[in-house]
Amino acid sequence: MRDNSFLESVGRYFDAAAPHTGLPEGLLSQIKICNSVYQIYFPVKINGEVQVIEAYRAQHSHHRSPTKGGIRYSNHVNQEEVVALATLMSYKCAIVDVPFGGAKGGVRINPWEYTEEDLEKITRRYTTELIRRKFIGPAIDVPAPDYGTGPREMAWIYDTYRSFHPDDINAAGCVTGKPVSQNGVRGRTEATGRGVFYGIREACNQPDLMDRLGLNLGIKGKTMVVQGLGNVGSHTATISQDEGGVVIIGVSEVEGAIYNPDGFDIHDVIRHRAEHGSILTYPGAKAFGKEERRAVMEFECDILVPAALENQIDEHNAGNVKAKIVAEAANGPVTASGAAILAELGVVVLPDIYLNAGGVTVSYFEWLKNLSHMRFGRLQKRFDEQNYQRIVEQIETTTGRAISDRDRQMIIHGADEIDLVRSGLEETMITGFQGIYELYKEKEGIKDLRTAAFALAISKISNDYISLGIWP
Ligand code: NAD
Repeated sequence: MRDNSFLESVGRYFDAAAPHTGLPEGLLSQIKICNSVYQIYFPVKINGEVQVIEAYRAQHSHHRSPTKGGIRYSNHVNQEEVVALATLMSYKCAIVDVPFGGAKGGVRINPWEYTEEDLEKITRRYTTELIRRKFIGPAIDVPAPDYGTGPREMAWIYDTYRSFHPDDINAAGCVTGKPVSQNGVRGRTEATGRGVFYGIREACNQPDLMDRLGLNLGIKGKTMVVQGLGNVGSHTATISQDEGGVVIIGVSEVEGAIYNPDGFDIHDVIRHRAEHGSILTYPGAKAFGKEERRAVMEFECDILVPAALENQIDEHNAGNVKAKIVAEAANGPVTASGAAILAELGVVVLPDIYLNAGGVTVSYFEWLKNLSHMRFGRLQKRFDEQNYQRIVEQIETTTGRAISDRDRQMIIHGADEIDLVRSGLEETMITGFQGIYELYKEKEGIKDLRTAAFALAISKISNDYISLGIWP
């Protein structure tokens, strides 16, 4: 089978799922196609020289407003990639019941080659271009962080938007992933990685799935290998280790990969990289240099988490994957040809359109917070705490026994914003998995979780088109 571009892979996944939905051809074509793409070239003065910057914003589906999706800074950005990523966003939002259409933006630069000042200039100019074309706004299109961008860039976008729209009371909702001090929400930075953890944990809690893979039930004690220690990879790894009892045995970054079958403390590895600029000198692990960094895909482990870029497992290396579960934390890390080989090997792939939806879920919470102009938990926290306090006192009076200080603190604690965000995310990821897994088990002919996830997303989007009266 020929290998695919990212967009072709997404198209093939869609085509594999479409027949299981029973929807008419015309409606399927509308759901598949990207509704609009804006390509921009703009000049920015860097070190006294003018550079022409290429950038995009694609809005895949307008069946819901606003559209939503991250902005990527990478020198691999091109129109096909942005369209593929915007497409995945539509399906992702549908699976986790986030009421947005899908979008994605990209700026074709290597962000690590620019100073902070240059990046600010580029980000503000890109935002201005989006504003001019009405490709951004709390009711229109709401960007978020992606590869190469983070809260800092989102703060610049917000500030630029706000200065062009001083009369928009909802301006803070024009972008998510902002710093908490600038109308962000607590828990957004960790959200995608935390969601990946909840998704993997839910898969590991399925007795029939674990039986099939010859693995013990539950996530605890499972071995994990992670590609990329950026936002998504580092949070997936640290939360899986700290809250799931997972043993991290391999990681890779741009400079190479390291492996230690006995496991290492992932916080220590991240600290080591921050101090020494490389994971390769981390003590006690076998090191693979830059040229061999893709060896990470072939490390022996239970769970492999590609959390860097697309097209990392393809027809060339899929046959060498030894993991039992491939957890797609990145977008599109497995090509359609690679996926076909993994399926033959019996490897379970947890698909990106479900697994990394934690980011957009918490972005949705942030957008809601911005529109409501109030922190989550503000209304009920004190009320709940006073009620719980009364209940504890009643129990103590009735039983004649005092509750320990530690237990008392735990019981009377009213939910803070971070508690509510994590709880909402956990609920979303568990419910999302159940929807996909039920369809996978029920529908004969659906052979893998990705096909089930696509079929579920397509059906949900079709309901919107039908209820909007666009389709009879
Ligand atoms: P990031 O820029 O924070 O991190 C990416 C990391 O990958 C960087 O540390 C980079 O050095 C590393 N990397 C790059 N090339 C590599 C290679 N060949 N081998 C190993 N490591 C390499 O980006 P991120 O936000 O963590 O995004 C990672 C992936 O997750 C992307 O596919 C993105 O689309 C997807 N994603 C991100 C979010 C989010 O909320 N940030 C949400 C959903 C999906």
